[in-house]
Amino acid sequence: MSAPVTLQLLVGFLMFSVVFVPLERYFPLRKKRAFRSGWVTDVTYYAVGCFVANLSDATSRLGGMLLIRGAELNTGSMVANQAGWVQFIEILILTDFLAYVFHRALHQNAYLWRLHRVHHTSTNMDWLANVRLHPIDKILGDCFQFIPIFCLGFASTPLLAYTIFLGFQGFLNHSNIKIDFGPLRWIIASPQFHHWHHDNDARSYNKNFAPHLVIFDVLFRTAYFPPGYSMPAKYGIPDPVPQGFWGQIIYPFRPINLAEETACLFDHTAAERGGPEATEHLS
Ligand SMILES: [Zn+2]
Ligand SMILES: [Zn+2]
Repeated sequence: MSAPVTLQLLVGFLMFSVVFVPLERYFPLRKKRAFRSGWVTDVTYYAVGCFVANLSDATSRLGGMLLIRGAELNTGSMVANQAGWVQFIEILILTDFLAYVFHRALHQNAYLWRLHRVHHTSTNMDWLANVRLHPIDKILGDCFQFIPIFCLGFASTPLLAYTIFLGFQGFLNHSNIKIDFGPLRWIIASPQFHHWHHDNDARSYNKNFAPHLVIFDVLFRTAYFPPGYSMPAKYGIPDPVPQGFWGQIIYPFRPINLAEETACLFDHTAAERGGPEATEHLS
């Protein structure tokens, strides 16, 4: 599911310089300096992330292969023989559901949250914030989503199309672009949808988990949309995580102090009640 590192760097550079940098410049959600705080950390994540993506791809494929052999799975060519667009939609819905489950677990388990909160340390939202992800978070998430995809035996072309779509939507949803999806915001995950996931305010902690569609967040009562086209005033988390790359890489492995580190963890009971904000805005 990932290309050679040099190709990733080249394609990434082209996509960013041709698409996201101009869009953020001419249609900004907020006016910002070109080199905002934390850009060195994020560029380091981007460069390291290209290697991590290859490692993650190899791990998922190996996991899929071992599972197919170990469990003697055989889907034949039934899945791969469907039309390409049907496979694309199936991959999209299945990975969206799996990503929802895994992302929610990252917010729900104190040990997983130590890895995932690195992604939530960005205080500036733009396309580059998308790459701030702890390598173990990335590898675990990819394995959880893609081992089942590999086991089902989808064809390579819809898989490649999905990979490109995944990358594009990830960067778009973090971007500092003023774009209103209108009624489509209730169907497709938008920048507004994902920006609220990064809101540094208790009212919207643990909302809007899915990467592609809004359906699973609506179904499981974690969708959060304030009325109108509004965006968070402040991004980040209150947890005391270092802002530098190496500090963030080793931070999850330091001794855990649950009392001071669970501020943002998912509250089951609030979710089951729907929460006052969720109920108000879903109706
Ligand atoms: Zn998250
Ligand atoms: Zn994000």
